[in-house]
Amino acid sequence: MYFKTRTESPELLIYKSLNNRMVLSEKEKQYFSNLQKGYDGELMFDSFIEKLQSNRLVLNDLLLKSNNTTFQIDTLLIMSDTVYVIEVKNYEGDFYFEKDKLFTRSKVEIVSPLIQLSRTESLLRQLLNNLGFTIPIQSFVVFVNPEFTLYQAPMESAFILPTQILRFIKQLNAKYSKITEKHKLIAEKLLSLHLTESPFNKLPAFEYDQLKKGITCASCDSFSLKVEGRKIKCTNCEHVETITSSVIRSVKELRLLFPENKVTTSIVQDWCKIVDSKKVIRKILVDHFEKNGKFRRTYYE
Ligand SMILES: [Zn+2]
Repeated sequence: MYFKTRTESPELLIYKSLNNRMVLSEKEKQYFSNLQKGYDGELMFDSFIEKLQSNRLVLNDLLLKSNNTTFQIDTLLIMSDTVYVIEVKNYEGDFYFEKDKLFTRSKVEIVSPLIQLSRTESLLRQLLNNLGFTIPIQSFVVFVNPEFTLYQAPMESAFILPTQILRFIKQLNAKYSKITEKHKLIAEKLLSLHLTESPFNKLPAFEYDQLKKGITCASCDSFSLKVEGRKIKCTNCEHVETITSSVIRSVKELRLLFPENKVTTSIVQDWCKIVDSKKVIRKILVDHFEKNGKFRRTYYE
C-alpha cells in the first residue's frame, strides 16, 4: 500500500544536528521547532492512515514540479476513482475562521491552508493531465492536533477537524476501491518525478570550525560518551552502541552537513573526537564507505 514512506527531511535532520552543535538564533529555533512540529503532525496523521484498508496507494511527502512551480504534498492517497491530496496541519490552540481566512485567537492571520490547497490541487491536475491521466482530485486539510479548536468553522469545507479524522478514515474505507495497473502507473510516475532537493529549505549559515565536535548519543543527543572496549556508552542515559555504528552515524551526519567536503580519516577523527585510533577509523571507513581518490588525499563516499 505504501509507495513512499515518510522519513525526516534532510532539512529537519540538519537542524537537529546544528541545534546540538551550535547556538541557533531565536528565529532559527522557532523555524526548527515548526519543522519538528510539522513532522510530528504528519506522523500523527500516518497513524490514522494505517487504519485504511488495502487497495489504496499512499505516497507521503511528495515534492513535485508543475508549470515551473514546485509544490509539496504531505499525503497523496490513490483510490480507484479519486486521488486525494491531504495537507496536514499540526496547529495547536484556538483559531477562528472568517471570510475564508484563518486567524489565531490574538487575531493574527495565518496563511490560508485552503488557498495553498487549491493551488496544490490545480498544479497536480495539470501535471496528471500532462502525463495523460484523467482522474478526479479531492483535497483536504487535516488538523491533527487534539488541542486544536476552530471557531466558526464552515460546515461544508475541505477542513477535517481533529474530532472528524476517524470518521473521515471510515468514510474512505467505506468506499469501494480497486487498484489497477493504471493506478500503479500514476504512483510510479509521480514517484519518478519526486524532487529530492527542496527549494524551500531555509538553512542557517554555518561552518565546520564553528561546530561542536564529537559523537552524539543515538538516544539522547548527549556528547557525554565514553569508550568501553569496542563500544561507546552514554553517561547521561546509559545507551550503548558499537564504535563502528556510532562512527558510521557520525560520518553520515558530517556528509549531510557538508556534502561538498571530502571525508578523510583525519577529518572523521576530528569530527568524532572520542575515537583515538586512526586505524580504527580508517577500517570503518574502508569497510563501510566507498573509497575514492589516491593515497594521502583519500576520501570516501
Ligand atoms: Zn544518551
